[in-house]
Amino acid sequence: MVRIGIDIEKCIGCGACVNACPVSLYKIVNEKTKVVGSTEKCVLCRACETACPVGAITVNE
Ligand code: SF4
Ligand code: SF4
Repeated sequence: MVRIGIDIEKCIGCGACVNACPVSLYKIVNEKTKVVGSTEKCVLCRACETACPVGAITVNE
């Protein structure tokens, strides 16, 4: 099971995670990122973690 942790305090709403995720799990809502799809779709590529400029995302199995 994949757990996506988002530190909402750190998130600056840049949208990099939205653009990076190949299975469209993120969406910007009220200038913060939000996981909108089922985390079962996550392919554990960690592109979101890498893309985030402020280290707000952690993907754990
Ligand atoms: S690890 Fe990859 S597939 Fe999973 S949420 Fe991040 S970008 Fe999307
Ligand atoms: S890449 Fe990081 S800072 Fe940018 S919207 Fe996503 S979680 Fe927020």
